[in-house]
Amino acid sequence: MDKKAILFWDSGDTLIEEDSEIRPSGSPIVQKGNFHKNADKVLEKLKDKGYKMALVADGYKESFSNLYVKTGVSCFLEALITSEEIGECKPSKNMFQAAMDALGLEDEDKPYIYMIGNNLERDVVGANRFGIHSVLMDWSPNYRMTPETEEEIPEYRIHSADEIWKIITEEG
Ligand SMILES: [Mg+2]
Repeated sequence: MDKKAILFWDSGDTLIEEDSEIRPSGSPIVQKGNFHKNADKVLEKLKDKGYKMALVADGYKESFSNLYVKTGVSCFLEALITSEEIGECKPSKNMFQAAMDALGLEDEDKPYIYMIGNNLERDVVGANRFGIHSVLMDWSPNYRMTPETEEEIPEYRIHSADEIWKIITEEG
């Protein structure tokens, strides 16, 4: 394959540990959170190697601004797609289409796109329905990791962000 993989990342319990998220009392906005196992460094390395990536995440724009823009991690991403701005959550195809549009991608690029997320009902179902690769990030103890429907079956499973190398270097 001569084209590089394109990576769409979920945030909560994929890149960021939800248990570490700090919200001022009464606010839905996340102020701070920890990246799981140096996931931020993994994004930096992927960016260095020329991989195009977007965040495709359900939540408030301001939360992701605090987690990714203020920390400098957004420099490694071409786009931050949030459900607040799109007006729908995953598995809505509009979330994935917005990421494709932001990266200037066409339908023929879909075989190169990988959606990586922890949520079977949102990330995996969304990617499977949209016709891109689904990668379940399965480290979180707080989410169901056993598919209950055909659409929830991920194409790949990984346990930390650095394991994405295994998938994308084998296949592209
Ligand atoms: Mg998540």
